[in-house]
Amino acid sequence: MSTAQALARLRDSLAPTDRMPLVFLGHGSPMNAIEDTEYSRAWTALGQTLPRPAAILVVSAHWMTRGTTLVDVSAMPKTIHDFYGFPEALYRETYPAPGDPALAREVATLLASHHGAEDDTWGLDHGAWAVLKFLYPGADVPVFQVSIDMTRGLDYQLEIGRTLSQLRDRGVLILGSGNVVHNLRAMRPGGRPQDFALAFDTLFADRLTDRDFAALADSDGLGTLLRMAHPTVDHYLPALTIAGASDDRDELTFMTDAIDLGSVSMRSFVFHDAA
Ligand code: ZN
Repeated sequence: MSTAQALARLRDSLAPTDRMPLVFLGHGSPMNAIEDTEYSRAWTALGQTLPRPAAILVVSAHWMTRGTTLVDVSAMPKTIHDFYGFPEALYRETYPAPGDPALAREVATLLASHHGAEDDTWGLDHGAWAVLKFLYPGADVPVFQVSIDMTRGLDYQLEIGRTLSQLRDRGVLILGSGNVVHNLRAMRPGGRPQDFALAFDTLFADRLTDRDFAALADSDGLGTLLRMAHPTVDHYLPALTIAGASDDRDELTFMTDAIDLGSVSMRSFVFHDAA
């Protein structure tokens, strides 16, 4: 199914509900933030399709912590340009959305069992703003990030998602931003997709469709293929947070299921109530 078809289907099947959908976006190269690509166009279209949230909670691959799950409680999260060697225009980008300190503090408490703690030093890294600028170009929906604890196993992010899922009923959009396959060492700009990238991307999509999240969090079972798709798992973990926040009532819609640069999956997905 093409992305346009997926979005049309999503538009037709989104139930009129107060329960917010869950979104995972493969963000890929920071250049998507300033270029008109099939991905940035899809993010714009998705933003026009989704209900307007009361707030957005972002779990980005680029906020990694050790031993804690931090929640940004700042009133005006700053735009972080956490990349090197890109064109000057990318460093001039800002996304001046307000934070949501009250809700963020509540989330830190909610995650106490997962070493949740408040933070006011982060802001919005490019995993967040580079996609949000297309989803909500007005930067007028409050947004805050939650970090990923890199000292834990994969199933930990499923648990975090399960804990956060209750926020959906309060109009909070939970957005995961990473990549289903992310191996920068194996990139082939302009080249065809690597076999391992296609294999892991397909495996992920199949297991997600089957709602076999345990398999997606089974490092040993995924074995070598996981290590090839993700030499480090930072870009994989936000996908598990989103999976963990879903439940039996959700339908699953995939979009932008392409492999970019040979070894970066741009697969994105939405869990949502069905009409
Ligand atoms: Zn990234």
